[in-house]
Amino acid sequence: MNILLFGPPGAGKGTQSALLKERLNMLHISTGDLFRANIKGQTELGLKAKAIIDRGDLVPDEITIGMVEQEFQKMSGQSFILDGFPRTVAQAEALDRLLATNNMDLGKAIFMDVSHDYLVKRLTGRRVCSDCGATFHVDAMPPKKEGVCDNCGGELKQRKDDHESVISTRLKAYEENTLPVLEYYKEAGKYVEVDGLGETEDVYKRIAAELA
Ligand code: ADP
Ligand code: ZN
Repeated sequence: MNILLFGPPGAGKGTQSALLKERLNMLHISTGDLFRANIKGQTELGLKAKAIIDRGDLVPDEITIGMVEQEFQKMSGQSFILDGFPRTVAQAEALDRLLATNNMDLGKAIFMDVSHDYLVKRLTGRRVCSDCGATFHVDAMPPKKEGVCDNCGGELKQRKDDHESVISTRLKAYEENTLPVLEYYKEAGKYVEVDGLGETEDVYKRIAAELA
């Protein structure tokens, strides 16, 4: 089954996607990761997106949709998780067209529900490995050695957009642009809600149950 994972920044979409990928062999398509890879590689797209992302705004739809279209060209029948896309109604409409063109369909749009109070804490405490991309949290999931990745020994960094001053912009963009997407999938009859609070494993079980 192809799914969307959506929810506010800090809901844990990336963490759960990584588990789904590993355990169910799903293809993980994260627009945030794709943008960050483009920024790291200093591509034309990365150069366009960097300032926008660093200040917490959404990258324009045409750029984002174009990037996702390219990812669809690389697909080969593996079930996928879309993480962080669509984030606007225009993106949701574009996705429907893209699915139709490729003879694919979407099983469920899974909303990870986490209340506002937790989000800021999750985001400000997040640290990401600059080499392998693994994520940690200073309180909830600290690395064995401070500032060093458990997996590969790489340096842990804080994303620029995880600084407190940027988080409010991201949450506002979420409320204005992404909450309407929720209605879109409710109307399409694809919407399911999963409690995003609690242990990572428990949240995983809730999501996996939706896929069974
Ligand atoms: P989070 O879900 O924690 O906010 P992501 O890694 O998914 O983080 O996204 C980081 C940033 O990348 C967003 O704040 C936004 O600037 C940009 N971005 C990611 N996906 C999209 C999208 N579908 N449309 C527009 N901008 C996006
Ligand atoms: Zn690492």
